[in-house]
Amino acid sequence: MHNAAYASLGMNRTYAAFRVTSEKLALALRAIPPLGIVGVNLTVPHKEAAARLIKDLSGEARVLGAVNCVVNRRGVLRGDNTDARGLERDLRELGCELRDRLAIVIGAGGGAAAAVLTCLRLGAKRIVIANRTPARASALARRFSAKGVTRTAGEPRGLDALVDPELLADARLIVNATSMGLTTERFARLAYSSTADDCLFYDLIYSREATAFLKPAIAAGRRASDGAGMLINQGELAFKLFNRVDAPAGVMRAALLKALGRDPGAVV
Ligand code: NAP
Repeated sequence: MHNAAYASLGMNRTYAAFRVTSEKLALALRAIPPLGIVGVNLTVPHKEAAARLIKDLSGEARVLGAVNCVVNRRGVLRGDNTDARGLERDLRELGCELRDRLAIVIGAGGGAAAAVLTCLRLGAKRIVIANRTPARASALARRFSAKGVTRTAGEPRGLDALVDPELLADARLIVNATSMGLTTERFARLAYSSTADDCLFYDLIYSREATAFLKPAIAAGRRASDGAGMLINQGELAFKLFNRVDAPAGVMRAALLKALGRDPGAVV
């Protein structure tokens, strides 16, 4: 996506992937200024660790406790996070109306934090945070109330929430913000048929095929979207942070859809 944007703008810059282990994260971050790298994106499992390592954080990265984007500002690293804004833009484009409604966020890591913030911005009245490790769901809920971001407290639960028919029937949006389906073949047990007809299933994971979380939702006739739109949006925001110019319209979207083997004209 980024290289397509550089080519389109005729910029002599390149975006490359580095495989970095958790033990080497601090070292890799320290290498950014001396190598003259303008910025980096970080993904699983580095986002929360980076927020602890980088001193200068944007307000959003601080609230989320996660960094997905590091900008080299004349040798000083600034940690930012474009995930929530990327997801919010995509959900608005999908017509997701959450005002005074219930949303369920599955997961409690950096992606889940971005999803919770997005649901708050979309006006959700109730947000249930369902996670394999309930203590992490509680910690995420506490982070939002402690930061005074909202009076709507996230309600921490275990994954048993996903088979609670009353809860599911009330949900307008269910977001998968775990790596289930990415690192595992199966998704957790979820009572898809208990959800309302207008419930939107959104998977932060993006892939060529429907994900393990979305397949049963599609089979049950529910609306479903994967995270390609979020990825495109957060990428365009990161491009602006790195290069101080707007990404050329539609170029990053077309590049990602091509890489995923999807019709570039398709709405994701
Ligand atoms: P993370 O901080 O590592 O969190 C991972 C989450 O997945 C935790 O809640 C963890 O539960 C849960 N999990 C992992 N394996 C599990 C399993 N086998 N069963 C049940 N729960 C499991 O990761 P993240 O940064 O939040 O990212 C989460 C996902 O979102 C990733 O797949 C990532 O690719 C995707 N993502 C996509 C975009 C996009 O632009 N589309 C942006 C951000 C993230 P525990 O707390 O119990 O360990």
